[in-house]
Amino acid sequence: MDECRLQEPLFTFGVIADVQYADIDDGQNYSRTRDRYYRSSLQLLSNAQDAWREARVQPLFVLQLGDLIDGFNEPRGASERALDAALRRFETGPAPVHHVWGNHEFYNFSRSALLRSPLNSRLHADSGAGAAPVRPDIYAYRFTPVPGFTFVVLDAYDVSLLGREESSEEYRSAMELIRKYNQNQDLNCPPAFEDLRQRFTRFNGGFSKEQLDWLDSVLTSADEKQERVTIASHLPVHPFSTDAVCLAWNFEELLAVIHSHKCVVCYMAGHAHDGGYHHDKDTGVHHLTLDGVIETPPYSDAFGIVSVYADRMELKGSGRVLDRLFLFS
Ligand SMILES: [Zn+2]
Repeated sequence: MDECRLQEPLFTFGVIADVQYADIDDGQNYSRTRDRYYRSSLQLLSNAQDAWREARVQPLFVLQLGDLIDGFNEPRGASERALDAALRRFETGPAPVHHVWGNHEFYNFSRSALLRSPLNSRLHADSGAGAAPVRPDIYAYRFTPVPGFTFVVLDAYDVSLLGREESSEEYRSAMELIRKYNQNQDLNCPPAFEDLRQRFTRFNGGFSKEQLDWLDSVLTSADEKQERVTIASHLPVHPFSTDAVCLAWNFEELLAVIHSHKCVVCYMAGHAHDGGYHHDKDTGVHHLTLDGVIETPPYSDAFGIVSVYADRMELKGSGRVLDRLFLFS
């Protein structure tokens, strides 16, 4: 009995990435190496809700790691309809959802429209000063579902060509940055380097100094309180947890902020549909890139439930998502 109690998690949460729903026939990715299942992705989202609802310890919340609906909706005038369909599936689930924004959110909606939409889950942020960056257009926030465990949603397209007005200073400086490395006419085409510079494409982005400074302050406070911090964003930031072409533009700067603190235990991302994982031995941080629903066939699944204990987190994956153990150092 005692042992049973010892094994009870403090809480659990659900994770899912890259649903990319669209009411269109199956297709393939840009390089025609992978099949994409646009329509059945909605059923896979429902499968996740069912599993979370039936879990022995129901999740306290769900992390939706971005790209909920596909960019193909926009030219068809179907963005709102597709978003409604996807969000309705979440309504049947057991827990509030923290939405991360990916590139496909910006293919469908402007940044200002997203801030006004149900994909803005900042209402679930901690109350009080410092729970979000001062600049309201940066979509990042902190929440504390259980004392001692802080979660941070980060905006990986804060510095980006996506979602910014072409006349804005933000767009101009993002263009200047990407043009240093990418001379292709189509900026969705990665530059021809064989190294990490392949990440300078239009479908990626990065974190502004304001956001990094805010994250630094959140982590400083978490260090002082000896909290465990999990960061969720759309773009991976560790080169060993993904393909170079999927990394955030200024991943080194984000890693440097993480490295200067003790409190971060896990960084979770989507975007790279094949998933990935790396345990950074220097910092003890587990970098998880979750497999994408969109490239998961209808007979399989791609979601997980994470059980949180005092000394570890355990990811129980379904379908393509592997089970993983994240020990706290
Ligand atoms: Zn993406």
